[in-house]
Amino acid sequence: MHFEPLLLGPGPSNPYPEAVEALARPVLGHLDPEYLALVAETSERLRAVFGTRNRLTLPVSGTGSAGMEACLASLLEPGDLAIVGVNGYFGQRLSEVARRLGAEVRTVEAEWGRAIDPEQLLDAQRAAPQARLVAVVHAETSTGVRNDVAPLHALAGTDTLLLVDTVTSLGGIPVEVDEWGVDACYSATQKCLGAPSGIAPVTLSDRAVERMRARQTPISSFYLDLDLLDQYYRGSPARYHHTASSPLMSAVHAGLGRLLEEGLPAAWERHARVGEALQHALPELGFELLAEKANRLPQLTAARLPGGIDDAPGRRSLREDFGIEVGGGLGPLAGAGWRVGLMGQSARDRSVVTLLGALRSLLG
Ligand SMILES: *Cc1c(COP(=O)(O)O)cnc(C)c1O
Repeated sequence: MHFEPLLLGPGPSNPYPEAVEALARPVLGHLDPEYLALVAETSERLRAVFGTRNRLTLPVSGTGSAGMEACLASLLEPGDLAIVGVNGYFGQRLSEVARRLGAEVRTVEAEWGRAIDPEQLLDAQRAAPQARLVAVVHAETSTGVRNDVAPLHALAGTDTLLLVDTVTSLGGIPVEVDEWGVDACYSATQKCLGAPSGIAPVTLSDRAVERMRARQTPISSFYLDLDLLDQYYRGSPARYHHTASSPLMSAVHAGLGRLLEEGLPAAWERHARVGEALQHALPELGFELLAEKANRLPQLTAARLPGGIDDAPGRRSLREDFGIEVGGGLGPLAGAGWRVGLMGQSARDRSVVTLLGALRSLLG
């Protein structure tokens, strides 16, 4: 491919130009005061984007999965009970990671394409009030479904923590960590935040920090220990923990700057508008949308292919003939559907128009 690909898959999205330019800034030492100031300012921008005043808000080295593992490893101890909402691939992964950490996992499930009923998660917690945490994926990237988080605020009155995956939601649709009573939240930089992959924004409420510090057993991962990471970035003096990448941090700092300059409500509105335009047009071409309308995400559309387009050859042609990347289907859409992301810099009218033109050409 001799031109920049148009990234319309489930991530990465095209980064904002400011984020790409920032990658070329001078490399800083991981304990350089200038680097630590960059991290502090990035954390402040993350607080704004997460809708939180949480003291422990950090850009963790690693992709979204590192954020997932950091939160679960720091909060769960072997034998703890975790209640996990599962209605797609990433809910399954949450359960799998919790199990590997030695937790007992109870799942609350919904069909792929449908949202999890928050009342069922609350009922599961009432039946097992000793549960350490309830975990749910806000935006299920495998299906394009939004799970409601606000009603889970009721967990604030219990001893159970609320953990939310906002990898695909943050920056694309409203996320309100404090208002919703979320105790642990992680995201990734390459979806709706408009930066390259490699950093996982994480935030923990004060009560989650207390629970982490009151553990009986050490956190099993050294690299993803959120207490050690907090000491690295915020200790005085800062303490070596790992050699974090300053170019990546600069890119994330710049991407968040661009997003906040646009304003979160304007960015949400842009994602909503282009998502709706795509979802209005796809059925006219014979695509069948997987997610129910009421809980459909604008930034990720999962759709069954029309007769006339085959999965692998269709994606190859989009890539080779038009420079467009879309994602393959998962679960019920494996081999039979695609996932189209309109996230960050890719959430533009011209992405929709370009993709629709290419699809019309494929359909002949
Ligand atoms: C992409 C994604 C992840 C994993 O993030 P990586 O950056 O690929 O490690 C986790 N959860 C959800 C909902 C995602 O969409």
